[in-house]
Amino acid sequence: MQHFEVLKADTDTAARAAVLKTPRGHIHTPVFMPVATQGTVKAVPQRDLAELGVECLLSNTYHLYLRPGLNTLERFGGLNGFMNHPGPVLTDSGGFQVYSLSRLRKITDSGVHFASHIDGSPHFFTPEKVIDYQAAIGSSIWTCLDVCVKNPATRHDAQDALKKTMNWAQRAKTHFTAKTRHLAPEKRPLLFGIVQGSIYNDLRAEAARHMADLDPDGFAIGGLSVGESKAQMREALAAAIEQLPKDKPVYFMGLGSPEDIWDAAELGVDMFDCVLPTRNARNGQALTSGGKLYIKNAPYKNDDSPLDPMCDCVCCRNYSRGYLSHLFKAGELLVSQLISIHNIRFLINQTKAIRQAVASGTVRQAKKAFKDAYLPAE
Ligand SMILES: [Zn+2]
Repeated sequence: MQHFEVLKADTDTAARAAVLKTPRGHIHTPVFMPVATQGTVKAVPQRDLAELGVECLLSNTYHLYLRPGLNTLERFGGLNGFMNHPGPVLTDSGGFQVYSLSRLRKITDSGVHFASHIDGSPHFFTPEKVIDYQAAIGSSIWTCLDVCVKNPATRHDAQDALKKTMNWAQRAKTHFTAKTRHLAPEKRPLLFGIVQGSIYNDLRAEAARHMADLDPDGFAIGGLSVGESKAQMREALAAAIEQLPKDKPVYFMGLGSPEDIWDAAELGVDMFDCVLPTRNARNGQALTSGGKLYIKNAPYKNDDSPLDPMCDCVCCRNYSRGYLSHLFKAGELLVSQLISIHNIRFLINQTKAIRQAVASGTVRQAKKAFKDAYLPAE
């Protein structure tokens, strides 16, 4: 069974419109996946996700394993049952969280020892265990455990981490294949390998070639958009994508500003996630077709227009900038919910616009039109 079907490829760029088939539904790509780290898209109830056009959520093995714990999730029928959300969920393996949140990490060839950031309790992740954990979570798209390095990383550190990541991906794939062998093709979750290599283009290319040989269902680009320059990010991404087969999806982990989505889609990235649309919403920042808008700024106090006149979300259809400005200044929780909903819809609408531009062969022009309006000249 072909899990990924390219419906149309752009002729001027590497952008494509495709469909990714998972056990819990089809995902139309390019896709923006809201982040539900703790089993919730912050401040957004599940009933709104379908109306927003959300086709896949992102959650996290490290967080769910520590809290509420896998026994609890299994009792509730996995994460989907627990949070009462029917659609596909992609789980990050936890490599990045072990690296960025936990204490007392010790990485060996067999796995990683760490202490929980919640209570300091000791834990040991291996590539095989992380596959088992994602089975307990019941997500539709799983990822292989990887080793993350700080940015900037020395070439030696990046190379060492990459070697382990590639070895662990092989072990994860072997375990995944044995564990899911009994499932019908349409019921089988998908496995994504993570391409690392820091900002070293030759390491990125080597990682991508190795991962392509391993032949997972898709590829995640990890360890970018973590503080390197845009030029470094673009080069490292391009070096990896060049080595990846064109008939599998590519997911850029943690990338999701509107301008980055347009730029990366043009290079052939299909899947995006980012915490910023909901995190910034809680700070009163809205993404609009005219650029970023800070609702607490003075001009909006008596403004009766919607956040974004071009937007079709429940916030823009029903409420004014003046009302949102008042809610924000009064510290009312509703404002976080409404701007989060708007920001997610804004990004989903960007991915929709890219799909339409691919269909009509106008990706370059559509990107320029978006950027001219979104990033007005200084
Ligand atoms: Zn809106």
